[in-house]
Amino acid sequence: MKNFKKIFFSRLFILPVIFYLLSTILSGCVTVPVQDGLPVYYIGGAAYYPLVSLCQRRNVELKYDAVTRIVVLNADSKQVTLRPGDALVLVDQRPMRLNYPVDIYQGTVVVPRQFKEQIFDLLFKQPVFTRKYGVSKIRLSKVVIDPGHGGNDPGAIGRTGLREKDVNLDIAKRLSNLLKQEGVQTVLTRSTDKFIPLPVRANIANHGQADLFISIHSNASRTRSLNGFEIYYVAPSVSDAKRAYFAARNEALNLRNAQFASFSSDLKAIIWDMIYTNSRAESIELSQAICKAIDDDLDVKILGVKSARFQVLKGIKMPGVLIETGFLSNAGEERLLRSNAYRQRIAEGVLEGIRDYSQNLALVEAR
Ligand SMILES: [Zn+2]
Repeated sequence: MKNFKKIFFSRLFILPVIFYLLSTILSGCVTVPVQDGLPVYYIGGAAYYPLVSLCQRRNVELKYDAVTRIVVLNADSKQVTLRPGDALVLVDQRPMRLNYPVDIYQGTVVVPRQFKEQIFDLLFKQPVFTRKYGVSKIRLSKVVIDPGHGGNDPGAIGRTGLREKDVNLDIAKRLSNLLKQEGVQTVLTRSTDKFIPLPVRANIANHGQADLFISIHSNASRTRSLNGFEIYYVAPSVSDAKRAYFAARNEALNLRNAQFASFSSDLKAIIWDMIYTNSRAESIELSQAICKAIDDDLDVKILGVKSARFQVLKGIKMPGVLIETGFLSNAGEERLLRSNAYRQRIAEGVLEGIRDYSQNLALVEAR
């Protein structure tokens, strides 16, 4: 027993734990693993899935009443009613008890695996989809690509002098060309070596009514050995509700629905809240798809999908991600990022990820 205590409280044991806790708190990062192509979260040891992602896949209508917090799912004249915090759900008016309650995680409603497997998947069947040969077109109309930094802000600088702003711009232009070849309209937040403030970058995406926002960066770390590809989506924060409220009050709302203008501020806030929640789930899916494509196509270490509070992602109203293509502080990756061939392969990997993501959307729409 004494020995055990000695080990338990030894620096060897405590230090890594403190480092882990500190790094989680400081970076706010959460790595999200995937199961069945869905992000999966572990809460109290149980696996949970985002409800909005499940519904999108099966084309199930989701209604959320922010006041009563009741969620109603509808499809094919079947209905499920549930509420975050409750383990009891109504399946076509029949009560059923889950082992774990429905919950809210990172600002979105999540359901335990048992709900997905024993209720949702059985009730709402997989849509029959015949993938026609050659239907691999990207089903998006406009993508905003944001090369990070520029002008007097070089971003990270590699040991041999490679500047992040130049790498970002070049990869962004390559991605833009690839998307154009697929018939997708693209807008670059900058196409020259120019400094653009972060809010302006978000505005370009919002006013252009883009479907996606892709910010391209390259990393740096004091740890020279650190290397790999990682991707971030916007992290939720306590200010989400506030953000939605301000968006509803102050923004010139250019939602296509004219009726929207006559809604009260509270109602607008709820709608904005739903828009944010929805784009977050989509951003996670987009991140997963890009990570997978890069992992398949390139021999690079995948550091994973993480959430962070990047200023540039916070202001955007559509699914958006921030890509860290590699570490300029790592000699090997600086060499790779200097080469045109490698930059092109990264752009191609991101394109494949966008294609997979857009086809998942198409699966839902095709039904
Ligand atoms: Zn950067």
